[in-house]
Amino acid sequence: MAHVTCKATLIRCLDPRFVKTTEAWMEKEYGADTYESMSIAGPGKEIADETNDGKCILNNIGKCIKLHKSPEVVIIFHNNCGNYGIENPEEEKEKQFSDAEKCKKRIRSMFPEIKVKNVWAEMNFETKQVNFSDIN
Ligand SMILES: [Zn+2]
Repeated sequence: MAHVTCKATLIRCLDPRFVKTTEAWMEKEYGADTYESMSIAGPGKEIADETNDGKCILNNIGKCIKLHKSPEVVIIFHNNCGNYGIENPEEEKEKQFSDAEKCKKRIRSMFPEIKVKNVWAEMNFETKQVNFSDIN
């Protein structure tokens, strides 16, 4: 029996530079206190590469669906991610967009009922402004 339901499950990188802006964006998109969240180093890479961390994330997505009827997973990818460790910004973005597609396929193959939204968070390091846009 679900004692609480949520609108979405946020999966984001633990990078502190993106914490507040990501929360503000989520509240704007979904409303305050309506989503649950996981913070994991470069989570898209872990899900796409099928590592142990990826398995842990997938297990938790299963729990979010079962316990809180989560209808949607939101994965935040961001520029200058330490877990990717790619110096060239264009190369980094290309790799992360490719992983985003793999994440969507992998999650949907395990949980066909859930919607997967991949989001690109790009920080301008001079202004500290972060722009959020849909990847697919
Ligand atoms: Zn990161």
